[in-house]
Amino acid sequence: MSAVLFDRLVVIGAGLIGSSIARAVREKELATTVVVADRDAAVCARVRELGFAHEVTEDLAAAATGADLVIACVPVGASRAVAEQVGPCLKPGAILSDVGSVKGAVVEAMAPFVPAHAHLVPAHPVAGTEFSGPDAGFASLFENRWCIVTPPEGADEQAVDRLSGLWRAMGANVELMSAHHHDLVLAITSHVPHLIAYNIVGTAAELEETLASEVIKFSAGGFRDFTRIASSDPTMWRDVFLYNRDAVLEMLGRFTEDLTALQRAIRYGDGDALFDHFTRTRAIRRSIIELGQETAAPDFGRRAAGKPRHEQS
Ligand code: NAP
Repeated sequence: MSAVLFDRLVVIGAGLIGSSIARAVREKELATTVVVADRDAAVCARVRELGFAHEVTEDLAAAATGADLVIACVPVGASRAVAEQVGPCLKPGAILSDVGSVKGAVVEAMAPFVPAHAHLVPAHPVAGTEFSGPDAGFASLFENRWCIVTPPEGADEQAVDRLSGLWRAMGANVELMSAHHHDLVLAITSHVPHLIAYNIVGTAAELEETLASEVIKFSAGGFRDFTRIASSDPTMWRDVFLYNRDAVLEMLGRFTEDLTALQRAIRYGDGDALFDHFTRTRAIRRSIIELGQETAAPDFGRRAAGKPRHEQS
């Protein structure tokens, strides 16, 4: 049985992540009152219909007033505007957190609006799908997924522990690291792979048009998976690249060098180099499966499991 961890818990932004948090907290009874605030009246109406919040409002500031925990679940570029609205309403001891896929820029954007009597504890659940909005969320999204908590220097330990406890209670494994380190790690594990997907699908679509080819019609497994990733939310991903620019450019530089090496191996018929490379990468997939972050089932186990498709972000 779970214990109530927060009295008034506020989720701002009823999208995939926000609605999943609200559903998980409600289902596991981790807060006495679950409040969902969204700027869009139509989204608020849909959240009322779906029934996963005790209170629903369009007024972000009113929602945050008296809250014990406020979690901003909005695109990274909107974190500043949200902090500006809710910051002045935070009561002594309240925690302001977020779920953004970039951490350095979010801390910079939000910190100036957090009063000295409240605590900023940013976090990033490494779990998601390519779908958006309040209907896309589900309570088990975070189960056995990582949640990376990035406390700013000097953060209140008790606040960090309380937020980490909430993520654990929602089923996540919690890891603490600096925002800078998070942004570098996620650049290579998530941001660059998404950019590659956006790029390859764009190239194929253009080929289809200019060569009247049948690239899309005959798309095989590899390409199909890229199209799934490349259908992820444009606003979210635009912000990821705008706000994690340095780390993404650093990792893209390394990626390009390695791609050139593979290109050379193909040009000069260096089968040994290609074979060695593919053997090394195959072992990496095995270790991810051993760590329980993926299943060995074909098609990434997504359809086989009959569950919503997962993509770590
Ligand atoms: P989503 O389903 O598109 O939901 C975004 C929410 O943010 C919507 O409720 C939207 O409100 C709200 N919003 C957008 N701009 C806003 C603004 N300027 N002011 C106030 N609210 C605003 O997105 P999501 O997938 O839940 O992503 C939310 C955050 O989670 C992002 O920072 C993303 O980086 C992070 N994240 C995403 C994933 C993933 O796989 N999707 C995984 C981990 C973390 P409306 O309803 O009015 O449009």
